[in-house]
Formats: sequence, C-alpha cells, structure tokens
Amino acid sequence: MAETRKTRVLIIGSGPAGYTAGIYASRAMLSPILVQGIEPGGQLTTTTEVENWPGDTEVQGPDLMIRMEAHAKAMGCEVISDIITSLDLSKRPFEAKADSGADFIADAVILATGARAKWLGLPSEDAFKGFGVSACATCDGFFYRGQEIVVIGGGNTAVEEALFLTNFASKVTLIHRRGELRAEKILIDRLMKNPKIVPLWHHELEEVVGDDNPKGVTDVKVKHVETGAITEIPAKGVFVAIGHAPASELVKDQLELHHGGYVKVMPGSTATSIPGVFAAGDLTDHVYRQAVTSAGMGCMAALDAERFLAEAED
Ligand code: FAD
Ligand code: NAP
Repeated sequence: MAETRKTRVLIIGSGPAGYTAGIYASRAMLSPILVQGIEPGGQLTTTTEVENWPGDTEVQGPDLMIRMEAHAKAMGCEVISDIITSLDLSKRPFEAKADSGADFIADAVILATGARAKWLGLPSEDAFKGFGVSACATCDGFFYRGQEIVVIGGGNTAVEEALFLTNFASKVTLIHRRGELRAEKILIDRLMKNPKIVPLWHHELEEVVGDDNPKGVTDVKVKHVETGAITEIPAKGVFVAIGHAPASELVKDQLELHHGGYVKVMPGSTATSIPGVFAAGDLTDHVYRQAVTSAGMGCMAALDAERFLAEAED
C-alpha cells in the first residue's frame, strides 16, 4: 500500500533553490518535505570549481551541494530521495505522486526543478550518446586522456567545459555557430590564452561519425553556417554544451509559462498563477541562471509560502 505523507510545504528539487527553500521553510517551523529528484544537488553536481559563490573563493560544485543538503537537514528539512512523477494543482491541498509509489498532500508547493541539458537533436548525436557524445565534461572528461575532442556552444558552460577538458584532451576544438561568445569575459580570456583550445567560428555540428564495433566516435562533420561547406574534424569525444531547458513538464498544462517553458512568477515574488504554488531558480529564470540567484529565489519562495499559509489560516 502506497504511503501518503501530509506536509505544509512540499519542495520539489534539490538544487540551490530547493535546499535554500528547505532551510528557510524549516526555520519558519513549516516542517517541509523536500523531494530530491533524479539529480540530487542539481546542476552544480556536474561541474568542478565554482568561483562565484559568495564566501568561497573556490568551491567544488558537488561539495557545495553536499553542504547545502546538510544545512537544510540540520534546520529540520526532511529530504527524500524520490522523483515526483505527477502533480495535481487543480485544488488545495495539492497532491503529488512519486516514483516510489508514495503520495504527498501539501498545503503549499515550492517548485525548484531547475533545468536540464539541451541536445542538438541529430540522429547521430543520439546514436553515440554515452559512446563519445556527452553533455557533462566533469562526468566524462576523464575518458579522453590524450585524445582530440570537440565542444559545441558559446556560453559559460561551453567555455568552462572546454577549459576543463584541456586537463585530459590533447586538443579541444570549440565549435560555435556565431563569431562571438556569450560567456563571461574572464572565461573568454582564459579560453583564448589556452594553447590546447582552438575556436572554430560560424560552424555547426552536422554529424557525429563513428564506428560500431567497438562503438565510439572517430570524427565530426561540421558545416559553415554561411557557405554550407562541410569539414571533417577528428574527435573521440563530443561535448554538447548549448544550454539548458527548464524542467517544467510537471506543471506545463497547469501553470502559466513563458515562451521556452519557464514558469511565470509575479514580478518581485515567486508566486505562480496558482495561489499556494511558488517557483524558484532556473525553472523561472532565463536571464541570470546562477547558483546564487537560484538560492535567493529559494529563500523568497519559502518566505512567500510562509506568508501565504499564515494568511490562508486567518
Ligand atoms: P538545479 O540545480 O537545476 O536543480 C534542479 C533540481 O530539481 C535537481 O535536484 C533535480 O533532481 C530536481 N528535479 C527535477 N525534476 C524533478 C522531479 N520531477 N521531482 C523531484 N525533483 C526534480 N552557476 C553559478 O552560479 N556558478 C557556476 O560556476 C556555475 N557553473 C555551472 C556549471 C555547469 C556545467 C552548469 C550546467 C551550470 C552552472 N551554473 C553555475 C548554473 C547553476 O548550476 C544553476 O543556476 C543552478 O544549479 C540552478 O539551481 P536550481 O536549484 O534552480 O536547479
Ligand atoms: P547559454 O548561456 O544559453 O548558451 C548556450 C550556447 O549554445 C550559446 O552560445 C548558443 O549560441 C549555443 N547554442 C544554443 N543552441 C544551439 C544549437 N542548436 N546549435 C548550436 N549552438 C547552439 O547556456 P549555458 O552556457 O549552458 O549557460 C546557462 C546558464 O548557466 C547561463 O546563465 C550561464 O551564465 C550559467 N552558467 C554560469 C557559469 C558561471 O558563472 N561560471 C558556468 C556555467 C553556466 P548563441 O550564442 O548563438 O545563442
């Protein structure tokens, strides 16, 4: 028989937004339950050094997230290893079902499901996922010691991944569809100074080429975006770093969303289009998408939920 848990506040997601909401909701004596999802600790667990978390000149992403989880638990937040598979926001209290079979009934919900890596959608990319094609340099970079690899994208993630991959690879080609990167200046500086990295401007990945036995990537075909000219580059690894999409599947037919699937919140607040449902972090934010801004929104969501519950009980 599936377990049913009642809670004042259900927090969905365990990135900086979720754990910060957990800390604040616990300190407000709301005894929150936080469900971690498939990626406990969120996106920062897929990176190495974080250099812009205030108070830490440098901290490893996974370490920071372990500390956040411990902090939330120490304040009284119940952290559950499970995935929410459906959420009914049509009436309050809200109902959520989890992968384990557990049900949750909550007076308020804080959505902090963040974002996930985007893929290019090429059949050859799909065919070699896990066999040379990756979206996580931290996870897979080690496999490419002394090899040539390519990174696709021109944002902070692509540049950081390219820099990180120089620890292993003999050469990293950064393939970008424009002639200008959108990454931060400090990262671009490091990239340009790194002798192992060669930028390839105005090109898109056309096809991942590889062998079947043993399965693995050997080359990539890239296309010049203006001339259409195809070039083949040797590569054992292909790291796709073209951004992230908000994880709003649970609520896409229930809440108002922005173009691109980001959950709409009221200006200066984390209130969504349904009273009692709050959203924080990358799920709502296509502009800043930082750990510190996500944590800030997690704090706001817990304070908003506390105020909502206090008013609802008056
Ligand atoms: P996320 O970190 O995306 O966490 C989302 C959480 O929701 C996860 O725990 C997931 O398991 C959970 N979840 C999703 N669906 C469900 C479900 N159905 N049920 C339950 N749980 C669910 N930012 C910086 O400030 N500094 C950096 O140096 C930096 N480096 C980065 C490096 C990389 C490679 C990447 C990808 C991002 C980086 N960022 C950095 C951005 C930063 O990681 C994000 O802004 C931040 O993690 C967003 O936090 P979040 O809590 O909104 O969501
Ligand atoms: P992003 O900033 O959205 O950049 C995505 C990049 O991929 C862009 O350069 C984009 O090209 C390119 N791209 C998108 N779709 C493409 C396609 N179909 N084909 C080819 N190229 C494509 O994503 P991100 O780099 O993952 O960063 C996400 C957020 O996390 C950002 O807010 C970032 O600041 C943050 N982050 C921060 C840090 C840090 O602070 N150190 C580190 C990592 C990430 P165009 O430029 O042409 O659009």
